[in-house]
Amino acid sequence: MDIILLGPPGAGKGTQASRLQAERGMIQLSTGDMLRAAVASGSPIGLKAKAVMEAGELVSDAIVSALIGERLDDAGEAGVIFDGYPRTRAQAEALDLLLAERGRSLDYVIELVVDEEELVERIAGRFSCARCGAGYHDRFKRPKVEGECDVCGTTEFKRRPDDNEETVRTRLAEYRKKTAPILPYYEERGLVRRVDGMGSVDDVAAEIEEILDS
Ligand SMILES: [Zn+2]
Repeated sequence: MDIILLGPPGAGKGTQASRLQAERGMIQLSTGDMLRAAVASGSPIGLKAKAVMEAGELVSDAIVSALIGERLDDAGEAGVIFDGYPRTRAQAEALDLLLAERGRSLDYVIELVVDEEELVERIAGRFSCARCGAGYHDRFKRPKVEGECDVCGTTEFKRRPDDNEETVRTRLAEYRKKTAPILPYYEERGLVRRVDGMGSVDDVAAEIEEILDS
């Protein structure tokens, strides 16, 4: 079972991928992690990638393909979760070829769909206790006593600089731009399945399981 997992930042893609790894023994392949691992290992491809990155250039599709090929050779029957790859139609075609060469094929492209307005509200409203780290939300989980942490009683709170509306909207727009070139490619082949990413972690996981087991 080889899948691509898509979803904008904040949709819980990382959490779902971790679950699939833990429960099904699937391997998550993100190009960033792969590149870092290859460079650290000092393999011939890793050394090539390192030289390119040190020169401040983008790692070519050929190098990324070679890396994915290596990882696929080690991947077992449980399958692979592609995360952040492919980004272009050319990469999507290259991936098909890499899989076919190994007698594999993509089973599903699962997209965690979010309600953008709701996601903005969820993320932009987050804050936490500056002392004990307890999490709060402007709308959904205010401290029981206004201005005092339920857990430790302190009056100091903090917000992550990234948790603001503008940053969230920018990240959502980037996500749409990144997936726009590849979604139609997979739509045409009937591989795309959409999951409601606004549900609880367990609900989303259950929907994904259902797709994988169907
Ligand atoms: Zn506290």
